[in-house]
Amino acid sequence: MSAQPQARFHAVEKAAGRRVLDLRRRGKYLLAPIDGGLELIVHLGMTGSFRFRGGADGWQPDPYVRATFTLSQPADPGSDADPDLHNSELDFRDVRRFGTLAVVATGDYSALATLAALGPEPLSDDFDPLRFHTALAASRMAVKPYLLTQRPVAGVGNIYADEALWRARINPHARRVGRERSATLWTAIREVLAEAIEREGTTFRDYRMVNGESGRNADFLVAYGQAGRACPRCGTALRKVVLGGRGTTYCPWCQRR
Ligand SMILES: [Zn+2]
Repeated sequence: MSAQPQARFHAVEKAAGRRVLDLRRRGKYLLAPIDGGLELIVHLGMTGSFRFRGGADGWQPDPYVRATFTLSQPADPGSDADPDLHNSELDFRDVRRFGTLAVVATGDYSALATLAALGPEPLSDDFDPLRFHTALAASRMAVKPYLLTQRPVAGVGNIYADEALWRARINPHARRVGRERSATLWTAIREVLAEAIEREGTTFRDYRMVNGESGRNADFLVAYGQAGRACPRCGTALRKVVLGGRGTTYCPWCQRR
C-alpha cells in the first residue's frame, strides 16, 4: 500500500509496502491484518469508497484518493470476479475526509474508541434480543443517538436507525424502551440491514460499490430523507428534527411518545 500521510490517519504510513494477509468486517469497520504484527483499520465515513482503477466505469484516480492498494494475488478461481481486475490498483477515495485509515498493533483498538466498544454483529447470533433490551434499559440516552454509538449493536448508522425505529414504531427520542418494544426493534434492525445488503447498499451521492455502481436501497427508504412525505403506514407527514446532532426523520403519529 502507498498512502499520503494525513493527521487524521493514525500511523497509516506504517502500512506502506506491507502485505494484506486477511480481510474481515466488524460493524462499519474493515479490519485487515498486515505484515509485521500490525492491523490496518478502514472506515468509509460519509464519503469514502474503494474504486478499482479502470474498473467498469473506467474510473481514474483524482486528488481525493488517500491510499492505493496494489492487488497482486489472482482472485479465487471459483469466484465470478472480473479477471481484468487482477494485478490492478484499488484506490481508497474520501472527499470529505470523514473516513478512517489507521494502523495499530493487531487487536489493539485503544486508539479507536468506537471500535473498542463495538456491540455485537447485528446479523449474528451474538446479537441477542434480551441482552439488547438490557443495554437499552441501562442507557440514559435517547434511543436513536444510543444506537448511533454502535455500543448496543454494531453497524447501525443514521439511515438504518431511522428506518428501524420507524418500522418498530418507536420514537427516536424515547429513553425508555420496554422489553416488548426492544424485541420489535431488534427484529426491525435485522430486517432493515438484511434488506439493504440484499439491495447492495444505499446511495445518495457518494456511496459506491467497488465497481462504481450505486446501491439500490435508496428507493426503498420510508423514513430517512423523506421529511414532509406521507408516512406509508398512516399518511401523517413525516417530521425531521435534529437529535444528538444528526438529522432524524420519524412519523409523529406512528412513533408518538
Ligand atoms: Zn405513520
